[in-house]
Amino acid sequence: MRALTVIGNWKMNGSVRSNRDWMHLVIEDMQQGMPAGRRFGVCVPFPYLQDCSAHLAGSQLLLGAQDVSAYASGAYTGEVSASMLEEMGVRFVIVGHSERRMQYGEANESIALKAEQALDHELIPIICVGETADERNSGRAVEVVRRQVASQVSTLQDRLVDCLIAYEPIWAIGTGKVASAQMAQDMHQAIRLQLAEFDDDVASHIGIIYGGSVRADNATELFAMPDIDGALVGGASLDAKEFLAICRS
Ligand code: PEP
Repeated sequence: MRALTVIGNWKMNGSVRSNRDWMHLVIEDMQQGMPAGRRFGVCVPFPYLQDCSAHLAGSQLLLGAQDVSAYASGAYTGEVSASMLEEMGVRFVIVGHSERRMQYGEANESIALKAEQALDHELIPIICVGETADERNSGRAVEVVRRQVASQVSTLQDRLVDCLIAYEPIWAIGTGKVASAQMAQDMHQAIRLQLAEFDDDVASHIGIIYGGSVRADNATELFAMPDIDGALVGGASLDAKEFLAICRS
């Protein structure tokens, strides 16, 4: 049985004060009891990791980061290594978010190296894949996502089972245009079938979560789909009450 996983991605938002208010509200609410068999996390900007780690300790909310270096240590100015994240109590790390692929030229190969670094330090990489609007409109969505997934398979092999894949259609991120539950399910199923060509065990155990304008009012329908194992939530995760409503969906 795959755990339903809901992860918030604050992106480049927040302040020490507002983060603490958010965490206080979410932790207190989660203490009232949460549905069984679920995992919850929040990916915060690097400078807030230490403070968030201290506040989240002992709570049901796991700490995540939004990126990690493809290298272990050394002369990589501005980079943050997986061992540093591990030291901060980080459990999840996003790799290959479309904003990093598009704005910082991240390629499949370096994304796989980042995931490898994360795995070496007991972090769960959340590997993002997804197509643009043009790619979907020209009927190439599955082909594009298959290529992104294939690249991860070729580097990570059966270590992929310890990762999460986030299917995030780029046209749905931050746009309010959520993929229909059936459209998301179809892509998740295509990813699982692709993974089964490699290894049945990886295919049946890996968590594949959906991201792209998830809100409390569309989460229930998405989570009801057999191949959707949770969500990566951007904008809506900034609002503690909305995030909690998604976690309870
Ligand atoms: C994201 O940034 O990963 C994301 C899914 O954003 P949003 O929920 O705002 O579309």
